[in-house]
Amino acid sequence: MSFTDKTLTCKDCSQEFIWTSGEQEFYASRGLTNEPGRCPQCRAARRSGGGAGGGRSMGGPREFFTAVCSNCGGEARVPFQPRGDKPVYCSNCFEQVRPSGGGGAGGGGRGRY
Ligand SMILES: [Zn+2]
Ligand SMILES: [Zn+2]
Repeated sequence: MSFTDKTLTCKDCSQEFIWTSGEQEFYASRGLTNEPGRCPQCRAARRSGGGAGGGRSMGGPREFFTAVCSNCGGEARVPFQPRGDKPVYCSNCFEQVRPSGGGGAGGGGRGRY
């Protein structure tokens, strides 16, 4: 099966554009039988510009609980209900206590100087 370049008219900007054989092949490989209605520029514009929005699940202020920092004894505000069996740290101490490197999956011995 061979494809040849085809000239189509964009329904957004009314410009003619070439639907290349490579693209036709790509369309066919994905089972798409429709010709593209828009030129590549308009398609790209729609993809990048129109996709915004969507549901933002987090709205409003988050609830914080106040506890006593296990490290410095200061006030610690945590986004979860503090439980007695777990140490709670204030934001300062949390920075110190938490394993360096963020991910914390092993390693960490490699220092970059
Ligand atoms: Zn266009
Ligand atoms: Zn602290």
